[in-house]
Amino acid sequence: MPKIDCRYCDKELVYKSTRDLPFFPFCSERCKLIDLGKWVEEEHRIEESFTPEEVNETDESKGE
Ligand SMILES: [Zn+2]
Repeated sequence: MPKIDCRYCDKELVYKSTRDLPFFPFCSERCKLIDLGKWVEEEHRIEESFTPEEVNETDESKGE
């Protein structure tokens, strides 16, 4: 039987035909939606130029 790894979580999926996998090439609707959402997130991330370290420095300068 053919098998694939879920494109999002790498879970192994064994199937007789792609009809057995309604969310092919994902294991579930959740993985499919998350993977689609990831595309959107990555586009946002490119616009963010600061790192978490720089955010911490800003907090310290506030004098907490
Ligand atoms: Zn999955």
